[in-house]
Amino acid sequence: MLPEPVAIAFANTRSSAGKDRITTLVQWRAWVDPWPGLRRAGHAVDDDGLALLRSTRDDVQMLLRSAAGKEHREPEATGRLLELARSMSSLDLRWRDGRPTLALAPDAAPATVIAQHLTHAALDLLLTGPPFVACEGLECRKLFVASRPDRRWCDSAVCGNRARVRTHSNRARQARTSG
Ligand SMILES: [Zn+2]
Repeated sequence: MLPEPVAIAFANTRSSAGKDRITTLVQWRAWVDPWPGLRRAGHAVDDDGLALLRSTRDDVQMLLRSAAGKEHREPEATGRLLELARSMSSLDLRWRDGRPTLALAPDAAPATVIAQHLTHAALDLLLTGPPFVACEGLECRKLFVASRPDRRWCDSAVCGNRARVRTHSNRARQARTSG
């Protein structure tokens, strides 16, 4: 399976209300490493920068989930993202080992540059696709590209399995009450 677009992967770092996969710099670096173009700038992020990225992530997740019909639109969150996207000025591109890499202007804060880039990626996704949907898992906040019409879960071994267990125990309960 292809990896999800970066905006979705970023939103999915909070997979449920209580589960944030980028709470420490070690976790953040592990998340950014599979994106070689962002790796260098990503490793320059400090604790304050990570706080900014996590709040941008919450806004991106709200925006994408509201587009997928899973959450109410929050105008403040959208406004913050647009403000961030419009402030994009310190973007630079360097070629490293034949590959384009997000580079930092001398006065640029790494987290801001990455947050701007990921915000743009989210806006691109909203405006030009590919279409995406939200996982049907009860507590799950994950999104994925609607590559197959029958796909309902981010991961059928996790959310799909939980739903099967729930259906099974509901049926068992009903059988007990009616029997
Ligand atoms: Zn899920």
